[in-house]
Amino acid sequence: MSSAMAKPRLRVIPLGGLSEIGKNMMVVECQDDIIVIDCGLMFPDEEMLGVDLVIPDITYLLERRDRIRGMLVTHGHEDHIGALPYLLPQLDVPVYATKLTHGLISVKLKERKALAGADLRVVTPGETITLGCFDVEFFPVCHSIPDSTGLIIDTPVGTVVHSGDFKLDFTPVSGKPTDLSRLAEAGKDGVLLLLSDSTYAERPGYTPSEKVVSEALDRIMAEAPGRVIITTFSSLVSRIQQVIDSAAKHGRRVFVVGRNMSNIVRMAQELGYLNAPEGILGRLDEIKGMPHDKIVFVTTGSQGEPTSVLVRMANRDHRQLHILPGDTVAISATPVPGNEALVARTMDNLLRQGAQVVYGSTAPVHVHGHGSQEELKLLLNVVKPRYFVPIHGEYRHLSIHARLAQSVGIPAEHIFVMDDGDVLEVGPETARVSGKITSSNVYVDGLSVGDIGTVVLRDRKMLARDGIVVVIIAINRQTGKLVGRPDIVSRGFVDTRESKDMLDESRDLVARVLDRGGDRPAQWSFVNIKVRDTLNKFYYEHTKRRPMILPFMVKV
Ligand SMILES: [Zn+2]
Ligand SMILES: [Zn+2]
Repeated sequence: MSSAMAKPRLRVIPLGGLSEIGKNMMVVECQDDIIVIDCGLMFPDEEMLGVDLVIPDITYLLERRDRIRGMLVTHGHEDHIGALPYLLPQLDVPVYATKLTHGLISVKLKERKALAGADLRVVTPGETITLGCFDVEFFPVCHSIPDSTGLIIDTPVGTVVHSGDFKLDFTPVSGKPTDLSRLAEAGKDGVLLLLSDSTYAERPGYTPSEKVVSEALDRIMAEAPGRVIITTFSSLVSRIQQVIDSAAKHGRRVFVVGRNMSNIVRMAQELGYLNAPEGILGRLDEIKGMPHDKIVFVTTGSQGEPTSVLVRMANRDHRQLHILPGDTVAISATPVPGNEALVARTMDNLLRQGAQVVYGSTAPVHVHGHGSQEELKLLLNVVKPRYFVPIHGEYRHLSIHARLAQSVGIPAEHIFVMDDGDVLEVGPETARVSGKITSSNVYVDGLSVGDIGTVVLRDRKMLARDGIVVVIIAINRQTGKLVGRPDIVSRGFVDTRESKDMLDESRDLVARVLDRGGDRPAQWSFVNIKVRDTLNKFYYEHTKRRPMILPFMVKV
């Protein structure tokens, strides 16, 4: 062992959220201590057939569980809290978050029956908590959900600033503007490393203020001839506040429809994050007989989620609510990448039912919660970090953010565009990506977590594309030899009537190939491979398709 004390170094490892939008999770390690920032989920893309959710792979953390001092959650969006019901029971560490975020986490854990035994702790912005060798301060940032925070983390190596999700709205609806003076102070004392939100790094200029949305909602409430239906994310508490404010101004009452959104509205009201004047919020059974121009519904479905209230209304599938001519539907959210087609279909169906539909391209009914280029530059200028890692974004967002950092004077060799699993080692004077750990996607499908791998997904893709052919081969129990011609059953491959000859020919082919063995008894492994190879080739030659081929042996 060397006599000189080794200087401590920081290890910063993203387990999610880099080179993708969603499932944010960042590991910060120093000496014997580990803290984890955020625990989010990602919605599957169209390649991930049948997968409900994607969450981070926490193998690395499970192997070091005893060193984890806590989980810090920056705010209550799905891409920051959504994996908690699946991962928290495995990690079993205290979770720190501000009051509203804490409330949203509790609602979520309760819905998934994972609340019992969870150690959830509330922190106030400005408060510092000590976790091993880390001193962590939550500071307020403005984002599309109240009580959002970034983190200032004092470590033995230097100060790390994590921006959370943020923008610099100076007239936010609820919550505080981003605390730039606190960040400037940290910048003056010296910041070793900045991790900053890149979601909107492609956008020049500034993100418009939430105020713009209030004005658009006001216009809709004033002008709509009948009922107004506003759909947004259930966690967009500030948007729900805007709807309530605007409805109150125009003498309308607000009805929150859907279990999840109702739960969140109740919780946010109890915690004081949502203020509704007496009598504004109503129950659905009260709408009978009410004039239509006095009614506002708020509900989910802005992403075209098939089970949401709005989509069921659009498809005439909701028990209590139907679209009526004269209804105005405002989609107060932009589709998360991958959901565009679902949203477009929902809008078409609403229009077919006689509703008016207002959305992003027709009126500013939504603004983004993330800072655009000028805001990102401002943050970089205020914090003045020695090293910079763009976080929260796809590869192009991260690289654009890296270029913005260079444009404000951070040397290129101090900027690290990282991927999930990359290990960044930071000392007081040096920093480098020193390795990579495994950090694949973990798929949640129905009730099970993690049993869907790339093989299952590949199979699903194959089934979806070219169908399946089952080959039933009868073998004599005594002699082990083939009995008769094999049977072939197919689904999703070809029209079985039209292609009867071709399928028949393939049965003969299999019989011939298996008969070639003469008196030798059929070995299953041989039959399996032989049948697949033969049919793969035959079907491809005849159809240019590659169905999944499933040989099946029965003994008779
Ligand atoms: Zn967010
Ligand atoms: Zn986010």
